[in-house]
Amino acid sequence: MLPEKPLAWGRTRSCIRDLAEYGWARKAEIGAERVFDFSIGNPSIPAPEGVNRAIAELIAEYDSITLHGYTTAAGLLSLRERIAADYLTRFSAVVDPERIYVTCGAAAALSISLHALLLPGDEVITFTPFFAEYRVFVEGAGGTLVAVPSRVDDLQIDGAALERALTERTKAVIVNSPNNPSGVVLSKESIQTLAEALRRHKAKTGHTVYLISDEPYRELVYDGVEVPCLLNAYDDTLICYSFSKSLSIPGERLGYIVVSSSMADGDDVYYGIMGAGRSLGYVNPPSLFQRVVERCIGQTSDIEQYRQNRDLLCAGLREIGYDFVEPQGAFYVFVRTLEPDAKAFSERAKKHELLLVPSDDFGCPGFVRLAYCVDADMIRRAMPAFRALMEEYR
Ligand code: PLP
Repeated sequence: MLPEKPLAWGRTRSCIRDLAEYGWARKAEIGAERVFDFSIGNPSIPAPEGVNRAIAELIAEYDSITLHGYTTAAGLLSLRERIAADYLTRFSAVVDPERIYVTCGAAAALSISLHALLLPGDEVITFTPFFAEYRVFVEGAGGTLVAVPSRVDDLQIDGAALERALTERTKAVIVNSPNNPSGVVLSKESIQTLAEALRRHKAKTGHTVYLISDEPYRELVYDGVEVPCLLNAYDDTLICYSFSKSLSIPGERLGYIVVSSSMADGDDVYYGIMGAGRSLGYVNPPSLFQRVVERCIGQTSDIEQYRQNRDLLCAGLREIGYDFVEPQGAFYVFVRTLEPDAKAFSERAKKHELLLVPSDDFGCPGFVRLAYCVDADMIRRAMPAFRALMEEYR
């Protein structure tokens, strides 16, 4: 007899992975240049020069045993100090290095945080559309995911819907800005609405609701848009950060958790994080890459290329007549489908060799996600296919 849930998660196919695999097979069949693959959010811009330079320097400077050996369970103190210093200079936020836990990317950061916070049956609110893995992370930690619809026109937080969803069992709220799958950046107004609702809830019920900010796309913003630091907006905040997208190193698995210095029970929450990390086996994150990112804090890949792709794709789609919420960050655009069933629309798109992810798993039917971390030329070549798809519905 095996436990049901892991079996079910393992057996459930991710529709993104399915579509990507279909794409690989199709490219082999008809040629890569004839398939317009917008399925997967894998960075398409190389890591900044600093990453390769740091690897070469570290290999020259360190003996191999130290370089590839275990570090402390929570990650190198020198890296945590460097991260804390960065929060102070960039966001004027005081972060204690002893409240930073280095992880294998944002996925581990989220999973560890949820295991540290949740009691069986606790509810975790997130806003639609949301990263589909949240459901697995929350249920894996014994909780229930509650999806709160965002405002339809701009996908910002709907304060009234949030108030309705808050209950005695609400333990945490996950926000993700810039957002996967929509590319929307939460406005200052949304953040204020959220923080005030959570403070009011605590005053009324005596329950703290922890705010988990999932920030793998924090550095991927365009046109001077700012991503406010939530540590400055709400005391009971945990930040789950990742270097996967900012440095284009998703396979190297590096991220971290910051527990706010203003969190009243922050010491206990941090002990819980260390304990959860231990019990999940998420200790001693990759040693070489901890040292690499320590030398690369403040650097990013050349995100100007993503901005150009966004502009190219959005201008083309707009001209044809597609409807979408203007993305300000990440590398996704969330396009309204031309029929209510997003899966059926995605299947029709396939006939035009367009691979678009249906939105059902993001908790928000009626859209497809297009990842524009692709070659700009593919975007140009895809436009006649988008036009032909639109013609089918006219
Ligand atoms: N959160 C969001 C919103 C993501 O899009 C991703 C990855 O695409 C993750 C978390 C996981 O990121 P990581 O590669 O750092 O584990």
